Amino acid sequence: MADTTTKDAVPAVKATQVHKAFGDLHVLKGIDLTVMPGTVTVILGPSGSGKSTFLRLINQLETITGGEIEVDGERIGVKTRPDGQLQLLNDKEIAQQRAKLGMVFQKYNLFPHMTALENVMEAPVHVKRMGKAEARRLAVEELSRVGLADRLDYYPGQLSGGQQQRVAIARALAMKPDIMLFDEPTSALDPELVGEVLTVMRQLAADGMTMVVVTHEIGFAREVADQIVFMDGGVVVEQGGPDIIDQPKEPRFRDFLQHVL
Ligand code: ADP
Ligand code: MG
Repeated sequence: MADTTTKDAVPAVKATQVHKAFGDLHVLKGIDLTVMPGTVTVILGPSGSGKSTFLRLINQLETITGGEIEVDGERIGVKTRPDGQLQLLNDKEIAQQRAKLGMVFQKYNLFPHMTALENVMEAPVHVKRMGKAEARRLAVEELSRVGLADRLDYYPGQLSGGQQQRVAIARALAMKPDIMLFDEPTSALDPELVGEVLTVMRQLAADGMTMVVVTHEIGFAREVADQIVFMDGGVVVEQGGPDIIDQPKEPRFRDFLQHVL
């Protein structure tokens, strides 16, 4: 677990009364959440409870319909004009905010025609305009960090699901994000491949990375999380330290744990 943060530190993520509707479907109904730098937050909850939508809002892959989110103390998506009116950010400003976040999805979506190394180099070269040599050095470093120093020149099709997901993690890390968002990173993997991905994530947490992780891996949550959030029906039903896994108060959380444990 991370050190307890000082009380005046700026939250890495601060969500205040966040709402999201898709047409008539009200998916998030007032989410409040604070993630302090260097900590790991695990979001648990049944399918359809709005977990992915919440991560996608933080990363501005969806637009918020109510409330606000701050990342590193800066409100996302909008800015206050000198006259006090709110103004939507332009694409470049949104890209700058999104660059603070790395995201790892259930499906890793690597470029199939590129090697592991080329996949990791892609964004530093094409988004950050980094020189090839420097990007290569960085990619080797990040792939080594996820235990794939010996797979640099392999294509995704030559790698196991667990190895591909680790490439996806390295690819996100190569952009030097302040915060990593994980959306069920092990859910698509064969059971025997889950451990290697969780090991990488555990190491990342130990290195002090700020992480928000949606997962059903209760063991990982209990061991690595500083904060657990249980969502159901678009609201936070229960929240606390990892101890709430063993002493859930809310019946809905208790039922959920009985099903996943
Ligand atoms: P979870 O990740 O907890 O399983 P999601 O955030 O994916 O939940 O989905 C929450 C609800 O929002 C679901 O009912 C889902 O069908 C709906 N939803 C998600 N994305 C969209 C979308 N782009 N358009 C319409 N409905 C959506
Ligand atoms: Mg989801």
